[in-house]
Amino acid sequence: MSKKIIGIDLGGTTIKFAILTEEGEIQTKWSEPTDITDEGQHIVPTIIASINEHLEKYSLKSEDFIGIGMGSPGTTDNIKGTVIGAYNLNWKTLQPVKKLIEDGTHIPFVIDNDANVAALGEQWLGAGNNEPDVVFVTLGTGVGGGIIADGRLLHGAGGAAGEIGHITVDPNGYECTCGKKGCLETVASATGVVRLARDMADEYAGDSNLKYSIDDGQLIDAKDVFDAAKNGDELALKVVDKVSFYLGLACGNIANILNPASIVLGGGVSQAGTFLLERVQEYFNSFSFPTIRATTTIRLAELGNDAGIIGASSLVRKFKPELSE
Ligand SMILES: [Zn+2]
Repeated sequence: MSKKIIGIDLGGTTIKFAILTEEGEIQTKWSEPTDITDEGQHIVPTIIASINEHLEKYSLKSEDFIGIGMGSPGTTDNIKGTVIGAYNLNWKTLQPVKKLIEDGTHIPFVIDNDANVAALGEQWLGAGNNEPDVVFVTLGTGVGGGIIADGRLLHGAGGAAGEIGHITVDPNGYECTCGKKGCLETVASATGVVRLARDMADEYAGDSNLKYSIDDGQLIDAKDVFDAAKNGDELALKVVDKVSFYLGLACGNIANILNPASIVLGGGVSQAGTFLLERVQEYFNSFSFPTIRATTTIRLAELGNDAGIIGASSLVRKFKPELSE
């Protein structure tokens, strides 16, 4: 029997698990709720117990596995196997995750941040077509990203490579949680799209159902904005155009530096689909130089919720973890 891989996608509400083959085929998956009480100290014990319980259920032993890969929020150290500053898990202090999970399961463990891990998944078995140069941008509550260049996941000097959400797209723009102004995240995340819609509604004098909803005090989300635009609402179309401009600008500049085969857009906002993609592509064309335009394609993510667990198995294949002392 060929060896297997365990992939884990650790999130603020759910921990997703899968047992995969070396080819990234999901054989079984399950999930556990994330218990973030008591400074998140129950999270790692839950992961260990859940793995051991499922190995027993399927009559598998630790020797049957090449390793466990995990994507986690926060700042991860993929050499030491630690996480710090994962605020949605209540992990403020340094968490020695690799050591604890290896002690509890006797399976080698490797970790990276969740956006990097999703990037590996899409690059390998998703929209990235296993090309060696792929950039992934996730448009969710925030904006994250991961860069694979020449087949390697980039980490950078401080582990912050691929933080695409903090590319400056408007030097005089909104303040970002990172402390600077005009980051892509402030205008292209789900919350950013709504913020743009509210501010543009203030200044819009024409006829618009979206403006009416906002002025009426109704709660709107990014999907409402895209749905209104698809129905021809003029204000909503202006908002989507602005979001597409910012994304096209950021993607153009990413591509001018890295010339990836593809820039893959994932996350909730990307569910606006080709409607968004076509508009981003148009701005991308005007912000990238001819060779880039001819060789870099913008695509929509394909793996959905499985990007994290598939990427975690890719992490194991790439880094071939060993048990630490
Ligand atoms: Zn920022």
